[in-house]
Amino acid sequence: MNVFKFVFWAAIIAEMVIRAPISKQQRKETKSEQRVSTQEKVMLGLLFLGMFFLPLFYSATNWLDFANYSLPVWAGWLGVLLMGLALLVFWRSHKDLGLNWSPTLEIRTEHKLITSGIFGYIRHPMYASQWIWVIAQPLLLQNWIAGFANLLVFIFFYAMRVRAEEQMMLDTFGDEYREYMKKTGAVFPKGR
Ligand code: SAH
Repeated sequence: MNVFKFVFWAAIIAEMVIRAPISKQQRKETKSEQRVSTQEKVMLGLLFLGMFFLPLFYSATNWLDFANYSLPVWAGWLGVLLMGLALLVFWRSHKDLGLNWSPTLEIRTEHKLITSGIFGYIRHPMYASQWIWVIAQPLLLQNWIAGFANLLVFIFFYAMRVRAEEQMMLDTFGDEYREYMKKTGAVFPKGR
């Protein structure tokens, strides 16, 4: 296995390790709101395909070899750097969001609006981390299918998710969230 494939799979494992404890705890939380559409379920399935299964086929079989490309070595190392950044932002977002995190759109009974830590700069740090990830992926997995499928799906997922999530937050927290939106950018900090 080449070093770039190795880094990709190490990053997958790192995200699982960061998320696992919070995932286990948050399932026990009581929820006051759940907004899971069929469209969202389909999107989450496609994301899983792009982030996990296609990379798996690419790494473990030769089925996708016809779609390989080859980048200069520095591009692979840029991918490693970006992956490191994605993991850092991912870890920090989970740390700041705590039990308010959920894989689908949910509000727990004891939900708190988080506006500090990395959330003091941007409203969607976890999605920011995912943007960095989907850009790093085609640099590490040099294959038109395994590299780019995740990016392609994420563009649609992001557009759909952020709209629905911000609507849910506005319905739940009203002016508090409206004020928070004025001070922060979605994935880029707002210039002051
Ligand atoms: N969009 C955020 C969170 C993703 S997890 C990010 O990219 O980091 C999705 C869940 O987080 C949603 O179901 C919502 O309940 C919760 N959430 C999103 N922003 C929040 C905030 N500022 N404070 C508390 N919970 C938040």
